Amino acid sequence: MTAAGRQCGDCTLCCKVMAIEELAKPANAWCPHCEPGGGCRTYPSRPAECRAFSCVWLVNALLEEHWKPSRSKLVLTTSDDGLEVRCDPGFPDAWRREPFRGELREWAISGEALDMTVVVIVGQRMTLLTAEREFDLGIVGPDERIVRELEGTRVVNVTVAKASDLE
Ligand code: SF4
Ligand code: SF4
Repeated sequence: MTAAGRQCGDCTLCCKVMAIEELAKPANAWCPHCEPGGGCRTYPSRPAECRAFSCVWLVNALLEEHWKPSRSKLVLTTSDDGLEVRCDPGFPDAWRREPFRGELREWAISGEALDMTVVVIVGQRMTLLTAEREFDLGIVGPDERIVRELEGTRVVNVTVAKASDLE
């Protein structure tokens, strides 16, 4: 049970969409230890990354029940930049369905004023949502960064650059 009073229950979606370095498990592939919809077969000895992980739905009761990942097909996490929304690759358009798309847009609007981003990740492709539009960023590698061009707080252009070029 978490602070939000929630439990994973029948959800195991993070064991598919998240990469687990310690197991060399890539993102978007079921972990060999996972029984989809059942749980972790190696729970007592699962990697530290798994122990430390909680999706936003699990710990934040402000995210309503319909966002439960097993229902929404969307796993929400936070980063230094804002919100990351990983879509089950088996349901690549899940984030476009309502009420999810509308709520994501609202968060993109409120996030813009706070300099927080909303990024949707489907497979390896990323899309940055802003108040006014979507920026399809294509495949963004782990060594790459999203660079936003701002006019005030409004995002007018987005590019992807090598992290080493930004240093
Ligand atoms: S995605 Fe969230 S609710 Fe689902 S199993 Fe992972 S931590 Fe639990
Ligand atoms: S080790 Fe267990 S908790 Fe970690 S990804 Fe695999 S099934 Fe999920």
